[in-house]
Amino acid sequence: MKIIRNCQIVDHSIGVHNSREDIIFNDEEIIEIIDSNNRRNDGNFEIDINADGLLAFPGLIDIHSHFRDPGETHKEDLKSGSNAAAKGGYTTVVVMPNTHPAIDSPDIISKIVNKSRGLPVRIFIAPCITLGRKGFELVNFTEIINEFQSNIFGFSDDGDYLRDNDLLSRSLIDLDGKFPILDHAEDLEKEAMEGSINEGDVSKKHNLVGRSAEAEINAVKRDIEVAKKVNGWIHIQHVSTKKSLDLIKKAKKDGVRVTCEVSPHHLFFSDKMLEERLNPAYKVNPPLRSEKDMNACLSGLKSGVIDVIATDHAPHSQEEKSKSFKDCSAGISWMENSFGLISYKLGYQFACERMSYYPGSIFSELFGIKLGQLAEGFTPDFTLISDVEWTLDHLSLESKSSNYIFNYPDGSPVQLKGKPVMTIMNGKIVFNAGELSIKFNG
Ligand SMILES: [Zn+2]
Repeated sequence: MKIIRNCQIVDHSIGVHNSREDIIFNDEEIIEIIDSNNRRNDGNFEIDINADGLLAFPGLIDIHSHFRDPGETHKEDLKSGSNAAAKGGYTTVVVMPNTHPAIDSPDIISKIVNKSRGLPVRIFIAPCITLGRKGFELVNFTEIINEFQSNIFGFSDDGDYLRDNDLLSRSLIDLDGKFPILDHAEDLEKEAMEGSINEGDVSKKHNLVGRSAEAEINAVKRDIEVAKKVNGWIHIQHVSTKKSLDLIKKAKKDGVRVTCEVSPHHLFFSDKMLEERLNPAYKVNPPLRSEKDMNACLSGLKSGVIDVIATDHAPHSQEEKSKSFKDCSAGISWMENSFGLISYKLGYQFACERMSYYPGSIFSELFGIKLGQLAEGFTPDFTLISDVEWTLDHLSLESKSSNYIFNYPDGSPVQLKGKPVMTIMNGKIVFNAGELSIKFNG
């Protein structure tokens, strides 16, 4: 057995506990949580961690991340992405399939599953909905599910919208509500696909082709209609507009099985940040929207219309990000600072709720594995947090990516709160910043 002593547990319902507690666990589950004052005689714990002064969170869960493996491993790979995730406090990550080749067959899934063994975080895969993510022919769901039921988390053509209504309908029917279809809901006309910025005053000012809010709203509307008709489970990825949220809110009320996520950038950044200067660091898909949309995302998250925060960690190389705004790759990296930003802006309890508890409850529902809570019987995944304000150091990144955001456009640093100092996954220390006293016995 192992023990973490004297920590202040953070949970989704009451936030930071007042009292100090000890967590006793093995590699399978949390066995007991007791008040540190009622400490038992120092038994022979295999690992004995004194977490005095630290907060203990359930391990963070990201259901939308790009580790670029295979095919673009100069940007990130499963190992560097996982190390970055563990350093950022994550213990479970879902990787998207827009790799090269795309993740669309048992053969390639099995390669990723094999490569993911022994990594510091638990990797789930969202395989493609259609072969090659091309939008013409469905993958073999039955074959993939039969073989990899415990490795996959929904299906997605992320990066692209699945335009064909019939294919969406058939995929939802095939999956029968047991796995979600994760949709990149952005129904763009051909010209707008080249767009790099939200369509509006800012795109006009810079004379750039815009990606419209309507493209997302129409796609969300279609997704909901189809899901409703066939009684399937649709999950909207990186929602970014007010009207999409209005539609999702109504659909939820009507009993449609629709869930959605928001990225940190759509919560706190808007296209106003690009008004003065087109900074390639802020180019993302879907684009940063208006302030009104940004504020709607924040209220949607607080009111529960948005289920979870997912990072859309999208690493790129220096070369790809240093081109002009119009020509550079879209995406922001988030694995190592998303928790700190959310906690800084919204507090620890909220971070716990939307980055661990709620995504964890989806895993419980899908697989019956108990993630996202520090409670007896749950999976022993922990993140020990030092309650300090900090900023991300570009020299200490585990990620290969060049596109973290360290400063806002006005030059002020991106302030973070709560620094992960140790991450434990399945009862094993997978990240250690070296600040804690640990005793290893036997
Ligand atoms: Zn996407």
